[in-house]
Amino acid sequence: MAATTVYKYKEPAPRVDAENPLESMMSRFNVAAEILGLDEETYEVLKAADKQVIVHIPVTMDNGKVRVFEGYRVIHNTILGPSKGGIRYDKNVHLDEVKALAAWMTWKCAVVDIPYGGAKGGVICEPSTMSSGELERMTRGYTLAMKDVFGPDRDIPAPDMGTGPREMAWLMDEFSKTVGGTSPAVVTGKPLVMGGSLGRTEATGRGVMVATMAALKKLDLDPHTVSAAVQGFGNVGSWAAKLLSEKGVKIKGLSDVSGAYWNENGIDIDEAIAYKNAHAGRLDGFQGATMLARADDLLTTDVDVLVPAAVEDVITEHNAHAIKAKLIVEGANGPTSASADPIINEKGIMVVPDILANSGGVTVSYFEWVQNKQGFKWSEKMVTERADRIMNDAFEKVYQTSQKYDVPMRIAAYVVAIDKVAQTYKFRGGY
Ligand code: GLU
Repeated sequence: MAATTVYKYKEPAPRVDAENPLESMMSRFNVAAEILGLDEETYEVLKAADKQVIVHIPVTMDNGKVRVFEGYRVIHNTILGPSKGGIRYDKNVHLDEVKALAAWMTWKCAVVDIPYGGAKGGVICEPSTMSSGELERMTRGYTLAMKDVFGPDRDIPAPDMGTGPREMAWLMDEFSKTVGGTSPAVVTGKPLVMGGSLGRTEATGRGVMVATMAALKKLDLDPHTVSAAVQGFGNVGSWAAKLLSEKGVKIKGLSDVSGAYWNENGIDIDEAIAYKNAHAGRLDGFQGATMLARADDLLTTDVDVLVPAAVEDVITEHNAHAIKAKLIVEGANGPTSASADPIINEKGIMVVPDILANSGGVTVSYFEWVQNKQGFKWSEKMVTERADRIMNDAFEKVYQTSQKYDVPMRIAAYVVAIDKVAQTYKFRGGY
């Protein structure tokens, strides 16, 4: 007799993940909270996200079948202003990740002193396998599902991994239809012709360059004698590499999803960008460098500056001991897991943490929103001068805080951010 198979519902296995970004975020938050002597009530308020919205978006795919995508928007905190943060399209989007990214947006906006709270969105999908029509229907579905969450004075999305000006244009259009009229200030990172800001595309990479220059000065290093490796060659990594090389830094290593590339004499970044643009956004086959056997080896190559500009948790307790760089500037959000912090600190490596180093993007998003509200376009000079000033001021404030409490720059950045948010709670009160 054939055996009958009995299907039983099984709870999915809990995510056994020492590098859970939410845990990484919270462990730094806890240290900073202790330094500040944060009271228990404020601690409780700040540790939890204000709101988490989960939606299921049915999308008619090109083959005529309907697929349902799961999407999130997490509003971490709005005490400083409307919440701000990007939308990520990726197959690895996870609610805990979105929660961590939303909290990082709160701290990031506070560090650079712009009047926003923090949020993040995400949709579990593989954008590279979807057609433009499928992506458009999914983006419009996500926007409709979030129409009561988003708003120019409530919650303002922006691009993140897997999204860009095209998706922001669809989002703006769909949201505008729900409210009537045109609502450019509901989203930033839009195409230039429809209310985007000059300087927004390169803003995060430019901020990484400005933060690197400020850090090199503190370390008494001349950019012209310094080498660097940049992990990730998307928007942030490619702009950071280009602008750093323009400052005289020799970019010896680069990587993207296709692998890691090395040239001891320095890579011509304009050439690498031109190659990538001509080859579907990928570097495979690039002749200006040789390929490393293992892409991860890029992180431990012999360079002075390491710029992780890809995803979370690439520097961990397993490879941190092998890092040779004197300076790490975090272009990505959460590239270093908390378990790596003590190793990096022990080695005396200076880290310009994500919530400071990559804040140039949200800073220029803020300028875009201000311009949309003003109905007045700023010149590129105005944008970059103001953004550079904000980055330099924030860097100096975090640096001074790290000296004052004798803590690494990462903890100092959390101290600056949490202190601003906690003080605002004290003044606003109300719970
Ligand atoms: N996604 C970017 C970030 O993580 C930009 C967010 C924004 O401009 O609102 O900072």
